[in-house]
Amino acid sequence: MTLSQELYKQVTEDHPYLEPCPVCGVAAELWQYSKDFKDGPIQKVVMCTNGERFDPQDCVQGEGCLLYMPPDSFYRGRIIEAVKYWNAYAKAIKAQRHKRNWERCKPMRTQEPKP
Ligand SMILES: [Zn+2]
Repeated sequence: MTLSQELYKQVTEDHPYLEPCPVCGVAAELWQYSKDFKDGPIQKVVMCTNGERFDPQDCVQGEGCLLYMPPDSFYRGRIIEAVKYWNAYAKAIKAQRHKRNWERCKPMRTQEPKP
């Protein structure tokens, strides 16, 4: 294996809807990952497309959104499994954030109007 060998190939054919990235909000993409695309195994993974460095990031690795290179749990054997995991993860994080924001803003909603 050489360093120039492609480990990722984007899935360009039609696939199920992908939730936007729950961390940064950009569109997600479906990819295949394998060290050997000829003999497999080939894993599928949905990834955030935000790989641009932003402040305060200052290292070569780990630039961009946290889900630009998602953890191992996002890698699945089948497209439907990878999409299902990504979409469920994204919806769960969004729901948690919404609930916490709602609770955090409760004092503002219940404040008596100023005279
Ligand atoms: Zn992202």
